[in-house]
Amino acid sequence: MATSNTSSMFYATLCGTPFGHPTNKVVCVGRNYAAHAHELNNPIPAEPLLFIKPASCLVPLEKTIVIPRGLGSVHHELEVALLLGEPLCKASVEQANAAISGVGLALDLTLRDVQDVLKKQGHPWERAKAFDGACPVSQFVAPTQLPRWPEMGFSLSINGNIQQQGNTNAMLMGMAELVAHMSHVFTLQAGDIILTGTPEGVGPLMAGDQLVCTLESCIDVSTNVEHAC
Ligand code: ZN
Repeated sequence: MATSNTSSMFYATLCGTPFGHPTNKVVCVGRNYAAHAHELNNPIPAEPLLFIKPASCLVPLEKTIVIPRGLGSVHHELEVALLLGEPLCKASVEQANAAISGVGLALDLTLRDVQDVLKKQGHPWERAKAFDGACPVSQFVAPTQLPRWPEMGFSLSINGNIQQQGNTNAMLMGMAELVAHMSHVFTLQAGDIILTGTPEGVGPLMAGDQLVCTLESCIDVSTNVEHAC
C-alpha cells in the first residue's frame, strides 16, 4: 500500500512536551501585512483571505526541509504560528485570546509558479500550498514566556543573510481578533494551528540553503533545505 511521507497524526510540542491534542488543520491568512501584499502586487482584501492546510502538511521545522522537484519555485513565507488549547466556535476576541496556548514559527511553503497560474484561473490554492511537508512548524512556547506579548519580532535568515524580518505590530488584523474572526468561519479545535500571515521578503528556497528562524529570544531554529528524491 502506498503511504504518505508524513505521519497521519501530528502533535505539536509545547514547552518541550507533546501537546495533548493532535492538530487537525492549519488555518492561514493571506495578506495580513501590507508590505507583503504590495510586493506580490496583490490588493489588500476587505476581509481576511483565509485558507486551510491539512494536517498532512505538518513537519517539524527542526528537520531538513524537503522541497518538491519539477513544480517551479518553492517560496518561504515565515509566519508567527499559534497553537490553540481550546475549541472555538464564533468566539469573542477575549475568548480567542484565552485559547492561545502556544506561540511558535511556521513556514507557509508555497509553490509560487503554481499559485500564480491558479490565481489567474480563479482556482483554489491547495495545489500550491497543501502538499505534504508544506508547513514546517517549530516548537511552541507559552505566550507568558514572551516579554512583550502580543508584540514580537521574528526573522528568517538564509545562508547568513536576513531575508524576512517582521513584527506582529504590523499585522493588519491582530492575532486574537484574527483567531476570533476565523472561528466565525470554521470551528477551531484544540490542537489546531493558526498561521498569522507573512511579512515582506518572501522568495525561493534552494537545495543546500541554511536557514535560521528566530522569534524574540525564545525560539531559534537552524535547518536546511534538500530536494525530494
Ligand atoms: Zn502565508
